[in-house]
Amino acid sequence: MTQGPLTTEAGAPVADNQNSETAGAGGPMLIQDQALLEKLAHFNRERIPERIVHARGAGAYGTFTLTRDVSQWTRARFLSEVGKQTETFLRFSTVAGNLGSADAVRDPRGFALKFYTEDGNYDLVGNNTPVFFIKDAIKFPDFIHTQKRDPYTGSQEADNVWDFWGLSPESTHQVTWLFGDRGIPATLRHMNGYGSHTYQWNNEAGEVFWVKYHFKTDQGIKNLTTDEANRLSGVDPDSHQRDLREAIERGEFPSWTVQVQIMPEADAATYRFNPFDLTKVWPHADYPPIEIGRLELNRNPENIFAEVEQSIFSPAHFVPGIGPSPDKMLQGRLFAYGDAHRYRVGINADHLPVNRPHATEARTNSRDGYLYDGRHNGTKNYEPNSFGGPFQSDRPLWQPTPVSGSTGHHEAPSHAEDNDFVQAGNLYRQLTEDEKGRLVDNLAQFIAKVSRADIAERAVDNFRQADGDFGKRLESAVQALRG
Ligand code: NDP
Repeated sequence: MTQGPLTTEAGAPVADNQNSETAGAGGPMLIQDQALLEKLAHFNRERIPERIVHARGAGAYGTFTLTRDVSQWTRARFLSEVGKQTETFLRFSTVAGNLGSADAVRDPRGFALKFYTEDGNYDLVGNNTPVFFIKDAIKFPDFIHTQKRDPYTGSQEADNVWDFWGLSPESTHQVTWLFGDRGIPATLRHMNGYGSHTYQWNNEAGEVFWVKYHFKTDQGIKNLTTDEANRLSGVDPDSHQRDLREAIERGEFPSWTVQVQIMPEADAATYRFNPFDLTKVWPHADYPPIEIGRLELNRNPENIFAEVEQSIFSPAHFVPGIGPSPDKMLQGRLFAYGDAHRYRVGINADHLPVNRPHATEARTNSRDGYLYDGRHNGTKNYEPNSFGGPFQSDRPLWQPTPVSGSTGHHEAPSHAEDNDFVQAGNLYRQLTEDEKGRLVDNLAQFIAKVSRADIAERAVDNFRQADGDFGKRLESAVQALRG
């Protein structure tokens, strides 16, 4: 901003910013005091609807560097040459808390990454966990209602949380993960990110591969205990946001080693797990992670509202060579994210500096709407046209997915080892004794708060099915607390 006098929004100087204009020294204020009215009216409108989930966030710009040739699997141009660098913006978040909530809480962390590529923005809207609570987007609003405040009590209710999880056994894997040590990262720098969903990569020859992304922290994994986090949430609710900003200001740029797991298209039908089920991982032994790059965060945003609050990410923002999989959570998100932005930021949210393409330009025939910036000048707004307007390209971003059968509300196809408990059990069994103890304790403390024995029993039973020892220890811990 240039130096000069304080002005109104229209640019006129403000003569007195201490005393409102009144009728006489002690009289009422005047409607002609436009600087006052404008100031109050603008202040009333400073907030936009906060995100229904992932409201609390912090972000930073960075650089993705490709370190391995992946052209055998994808024709994405930003992944085409070893050493190639792409600008990125990463927004971290908690899921359930409101905009002003504390950072150091037990909650998954959003890991939403925008690559500003020469073929448009590619958004990978991941989390710090490789799996999720549910596997079909139709359950998402119900699930989130149980995490948010109850409409009658105004508080988060253990009854709602455990009732839903107990009746949704597919959540057992993610809940085991969440109540383990990694459920409260020490900072945003000391945790992994995961694309979580399975995506499609396709190469020049049109061959299809299914891919999962992993971002392994180069800072090492560090977590907070429940007691440490409870204390920190009270004394420093902004701990994670501050840590990220200060580390970047110090020139300590956090980085992540980027890996992918690649599954040839033909494997999907017969793989032992449904590869499009968001409640499952692909065990590393089946599809070993392959290192392909490095992500570094190296620039703080100048303005949190403009660049973090108004940043938008959509899993539907693909680029040539990358596309969706039939994962039913992903399919729902392909709609829900864009819809949320249109409501929350507006139809021209993509025009904001943080959201628009940086390495190319958007050439659409969309026009007008709230806060349209007139970017298209006098150009025609239809296609086909003979005035040199933008034309359609001749190749879809992704390859078609073969389908068969009839429409209907189907359960996902069953695979040999698909059940809701096997991977939760695998996770439990790989923990050390200390880790198991903390996991059981964290779960028991929360389950013990429910008001009805059947809700607690159903919750415990899911963990028993994951692993007998897990269930036994949890049952005794809950009983000891509930008496
Ligand atoms: P894998 O070797 O495939 O996976 C083991 C992975 O578990 C590790 O590489 C590490 O992931 C992760 N892990 C280690 N400690 C913890 C912890 N305390 N909390 C959460 N994750 C941890 O073995 P399995 O296939 O037998 O998988 C066992 C379980 O590991 C799975 O059920 C899943 O819950 C979990 N896991 C698996 C991942 C995968 O992609 N296969 C990824 C993350 C977790 P990382 O290397 O990413 O830090």
